[in-house]
Amino acid sequence: MICKSLIFPALAVLVMVAADLIQPYSVNNRQDRKMIERTFAIIKPNAFADGNAGKILARIYAEGFTVIGLKKLYLNKREAEGFYHVHQGKPFFNDLTEFMASGPCIVMVLEAEGAITKWRDLMGATNPAEAAEGTLRREFGTSLGRNATHGSDGQETARFEINYFFSALELLV
Ligand code: ATP
Ligand code: MG
Repeated sequence: MICKSLIFPALAVLVMVAADLIQPYSVNNRQDRKMIERTFAIIKPNAFADGNAGKILARIYAEGFTVIGLKKLYLNKREAEGFYHVHQGKPFFNDLTEFMASGPCIVMVLEAEGAITKWRDLMGATNPAEAAEGTLRREFGTSLGRNATHGSDGQETARFEINYFFSALELLV
């Protein structure tokens, strides 16, 4: 009899303790997630062909990004045109898409606090000649066209670019 009357309060205490343990974790987790952002990045064909993919990946890890998705692709011209559709009609569009289809590249989804800006800062200016010392484009880019890396320029672009190359299943963490 005493035993039975103790079961319910004991269960209630257990549930409360469990909820206490779980809640702060899930709340913190949600807050952390709010600040974490994803961006899309490419190690372009020139950097891959020059054997610099490993060095660029090492920098990515050293700067504190989490690599959520990564694969090697050999784009065809049509795929490159679809990816860079925002530049359609510009004088450099044909050269740009031909270059992107000229050899294998590595496409990635990177996660970090403020990942979009953080990755663009690490890449440096579009033109390697104008990129700051210590940036990837300064170190591995050889011309405006062959500038070693790509990065999304905003949240909407990042969403489009990530979905262009990766399925939700490939980005499970
Ligand atoms: P990316 O989109 O590749 O990360 P970005 O955002 O710094 O580079 P964009 O203006 O989006 O620069 O241009 C896309 C790419 O097109 C550049 O990375 C560069 O290789 C090429 N490009 C841009 N402007 C020119 C130009 N005037 N002449 C030749 N190529 C260019
Ligand atoms: Mg761009």
